[in-house]
Amino acid sequence: MTNTITYPKTVPAEKQDKQPGLEKLMNPKPIYEDAEYKGTGKLKNKVAVITGGDSGIGKAVAIAYAKEGARIAIIYLDEHEDANETKKIIETNGAECLLIHGDIGDEEFCKESVKKIINQYNAIDILVNNAGEQHPQNSVEDITKEQLERTFKTNIFAMFYLTKYVLPYLKDGSSIINTSSVTAYKGNKTLIDYSSTKGAIVSFTRSMALSVASRNIRVNAVAPGPIWTPLIPSSFSAEDVGKFGLNTTLGRPGQPVELAPCYVFLAEDGSSYISGETIHINGGEIINS
Ligand code: NAD
Ligand code: MG
Repeated sequence: MTNTITYPKTVPAEKQDKQPGLEKLMNPKPIYEDAEYKGTGKLKNKVAVITGGDSGIGKAVAIAYAKEGARIAIIYLDEHEDANETKKIIETNGAECLLIHGDIGDEEFCKESVKKIINQYNAIDILVNNAGEQHPQNSVEDITKEQLERTFKTNIFAMFYLTKYVLPYLKDGSSIINTSSVTAYKGNKTLIDYSSTKGAIVSFTRSMALSVASRNIRVNAVAPGPIWTPLIPSSFSAEDVGKFGLNTTLGRPGQPVELAPCYVFLAEDGSSYISGETIHINGGEIINS
């Protein structure tokens, strides 16, 4: 990466009233691409499936993978404008992009999505389980059964479903990357259900890594700190958004583009001896994992 990007020190106290949030409503927009980043064919001819690849972290990953020569399949919930915009950027970078929308908390939908991807590309090499949702509540007493089940379905059940249906197609050298969170390690008093799913993702990653090691498939996780994406204005109060990322060591929120190189690294052969690991991208917080 180069030093051509100036990262904002703060973000404005903006608020969206619906989750998933929309990138098109954000001002400033998240930084999802470094124009100076030139791919070197690290993922040439690979097929990558990225959940939540329409926006935020997944979008930055999808664009970097496209620049590295991968063909992309994005699974997202219902943000069609964001998804089409991302597809356009990927195609501008000379890569193919298949968009599939629906609820990954539904096992049948996951199964059908994998079928569609195989019909289109006849292969899957990389699975990035990245979609997620969070609904802050002041007390565990305020977490309804409905919220609890929905958060677990989207954030962790979907990883089981997609991994299960993608696994038969993965081959020697394939890679699975799961998006966890710093909240898995530090806890978060208003995100008790969400941080529990993110902890489960770390354990899922470790267990899957053991389970598929004999096929030389590697499974790793990334645990982001505060990153400026549609998730933030669509889940936190305007007041909290205004303070977002200020209490990190580097003193600012991260941008999606700052995560993409790590997802590239975990997908390609440069990380051939890393599995079951979680990489912390959180503005300098030291995590004892
Ligand atoms: P985002 O809103 O851009 O991405 C989340 C995506 O998940 C959405 O684009 C949406 O399409 C998808 N999604 C949500 N529910 C879905 C469902 N039921 N079915 C299919 N797709 C669904 O926000 P982001 O911050 O880029 O989030 C990506 C991942 O990063 C999430 O797992 C999030 O928990 C994690 N994360 C984010 C931060 C942060 O500060 N932004 C910090 C730690 C972890
Ligand atoms: Mg989105």
